[in-house]
Order: sequence, then C-alpha cells, then structure tokens
Amino acid sequence: MNNKLVLVLNCGSSSLKFAVINAENGDEIISGLAECFNLPDARLKWKISGRKESSSLPANSAHAAAISYIVEKIIKKEAGLAEQFIAVGHRIVHGGEKFTQSVLVDDSVIEGIEECASLAPLHNHAHVLGIKAAQAAFPTLPQVTVFDTAFHQTMPAKAFMYALPYTMYKELHVRRYGMHGTSHLFVTNEAAKALNKPLDQINIISAHLGNGASVAAIKNGKCVDTSMGMTPLAGLVMGTRCGDIDPSIIEYLVTRKGYSIGGVMDILQKQSGLLGISGISSDFRVILDGYAEGNERATLAMEMFSYRLAKYIASYAVPLGRIDAIVFTGGIGENSHLIRTKVLELLTIFGYQVDQVKNEAARLGKQGVITVEGSPIAMVIPTNEEWVIAQDAAKIVAAL
Ligand code: ADP
Repeated sequence: MNNKLVLVLNCGSSSLKFAVINAENGDEIISGLAECFNLPDARLKWKISGRKESSSLPANSAHAAAISYIVEKIIKKEAGLAEQFIAVGHRIVHGGEKFTQSVLVDDSVIEGIEECASLAPLHNHAHVLGIKAAQAAFPTLPQVTVFDTAFHQTMPAKAFMYALPYTMYKELHVRRYGMHGTSHLFVTNEAAKALNKPLDQINIISAHLGNGASVAAIKNGKCVDTSMGMTPLAGLVMGTRCGDIDPSIIEYLVTRKGYSIGGVMDILQKQSGLLGISGISSDFRVILDGYAEGNERATLAMEMFSYRLAKYIASYAVPLGRIDAIVFTGGIGENSHLIRTKVLELLTIFGYQVDQVKNEAARLGKQGVITVEGSPIAMVIPTNEEWVIAQDAAKIVAAL
C-alpha cells in the first residue's frame, strides 16, 4: 500500500486532538484525543480501524509526551503505516493578518505564529509546542500549518474593522479576524459540489454550530463577513461563551461587583452562553432534554441561541444579495433538527419552508437539503476540518 497519509494535529492548551487522514479520499485511519495535560491523570484515547483504545500518560505529561506516545506506541505499531506519511498538518487558531493561506513550516512561520499569540494566547503557544514536538518526532517530514483565520482574510475593511480609533487597528491590530475558517471553507466547497455551481459563483451562509459557534457570509466562494471577532468570544450564543454583548457591561461588573478584568473574562468565556442562561449545561443535548421537559431556562437558552443566529443570517442578506443556501454544520448544526427548524421559522420572510422528513433524516454525518421543493435551500453538510488540513498539507508537499 502506498497511500498519502497526513498526521493532523490540533493542539490546545491542555489537550491535543490527532488524526491520521488519507489526503486523497478523507479516510480517517486513526483519530484520538490526549487530555488533562500537566495533571496527574494525563491520558489518551484513540480509535484505530474501528477499535477503541485508551491509555494513561505519565503524570503531568503535555504535548511532547503525548506526541511521542502517539508516534511510538500507536503509529509505529501498525506495520507499514509510518512509511506512508507525507506530512504533518497543524491546525492553528490565529494567523492574524500575516497568514492568508496554509504554509510550510520554517523558523519564520514559527516566529509568525508566536507574534500572533497575543491575539490567541492559550492556543498559539500550544500550537508552537505541538509543531516543535512533531518536528522532533518526524525530523524528515514536512510540517504544514493551516490557519482558522485564513479563510476570513478576504473580508473587506468595512466588515472587518471595528468603529474604534483607526490607530487601534494600525498599531495594535485590533480588528475582526473570524474563526472556524477551515470548516467554513470545507462546507463552501461541498455546497458548490452539491448545488452543482462553480466555486467562484456560489453564495452561501455557513453556520458552524459546535461548542464554539460562528456564521459566515460567503460570496462567490469567498468570505465577506463573519460573526466571530478579534477573538472567538464574539457573535453567536455559544456553549459557555457569551457572544455579542455591550462592552460597557465589563466596566459595570468591575465597578459594581468588584471583579477583576480576569474575573469578568472568565465569566464571559466560561460561565456564559448556554451554560450561563440555562444554569444546567453547555452541552446542547442537555439543553434539548431540558427544553423537552419544559425547563424554562433551557427553553430560553434555545430561543436565544436560535434568535441570535437567525438575526445574523438575515443580516448577511446585505453583503450577499443572493443566497444559494444556508448550510448548517458542527455538532449542533449537523444533529439538531429542532434548532434548524427554529432558525428557519424565524427566516420565513425569506420563504424558507422546512421539509421535516428530510430535516429529521439529516443527522449522524448525513448530508442533505432540508427544505421543501420550491423553497430557498437550506442544507446540512457535516464538516471535516481534518480533511481540509490533510489536503492542504498534501498540496503543499506536492509543490516542493
Ligand atoms: P467542538 O466545537 O468542540 O468541535 P462539536 O462540533 O463536536 O464541538 O459540537 C458539540 C456540540 O454538539 C455540543 O453542544 C453537543 O451537545 C452537540 N451535539 C452533539 N450531538 C448532538 C445531537 N445528537 N443533538 C444535538 N446536539 C448535539
């Protein structure tokens, strides 16, 4: 066998998701998660050929130890697997204005990622640790970085600027960057194929709804607006993040309750969103159960989630003019027919009519249109960020 395999690494501050992907057909050979870094119970779980396995890692392990375990104890144990690797692909959360596309790693790229770290401190430092550990584990393999922000770099200034003094943009790089770009890019490509339209002529609104959530307006295949901001805190109601709020609330909480700025940020990032409103969970499945049982605050959380999303989608009619499809993706977008119904019901002014049979059938990784014949189109497209990373890495390696 001689497949073109890419080891995809997604390093967070306390965890690392990994996958071995066939860059030609998207097949996932291995996928897994190492978690609880720097804690006594650091551990790893993974799936290989449908088999689920797990192991503890030495206490206080972090990126380097996890990558070494993945390479030595998982990959090298499979005969002939490591020999098929063509690259390591790294998901990078923040590429600032520096990175507008995926690139081959060299020292200047690592420096660039460090420079952008002030915009995503937890993530970018972890990415650099991951790159260095992967370089040590695979000294001869090309390493490629794929940026979550890159797809959004086509936004015009009127969409990415904040109405702050211009010097804040020039001197401090304060602007909207957007996130989930790899997912929005994937669904844009898939929507073009599904709707049989050339990529450079497709207009969609892509709603990536996971623990983090963002919506993007895509015109002629390129992003023209998105809901996340300088950081992933802005925009939609998320699992634990507040999304858009009046910035004066921060000062109000500091002066009225004596919180530190760090304390307020912790509330906005970790105690808000679905969790903060419902008081029961950030997990959408738990919110759905609460809603079904008539729990008032779970119901409010559902309503706020769908109302905010529908308002964002409606506002993107402004840059798009023509909308070929609304696309739902991410754990919630792919699986909750109820949230899709609620959002599309709020958009009836545009003529959306849900086909409930198709809507309920689109779950567990199934792609499909969920509106009736004659309605403007809304559809579900399961995202696959790992495949985008593998394909980008393969393209870059092929051009070497
Ligand atoms: P992440 O942003 O961490 O990648 P995911 O895209 O995996 O997140 O989405 C996680 C969210 O998807 C959680 O809120 C989870 O409850 C929700 N989810 C997963 N499966 C379902 C389901 N069958 N129905 C509704 N929500 C679901």
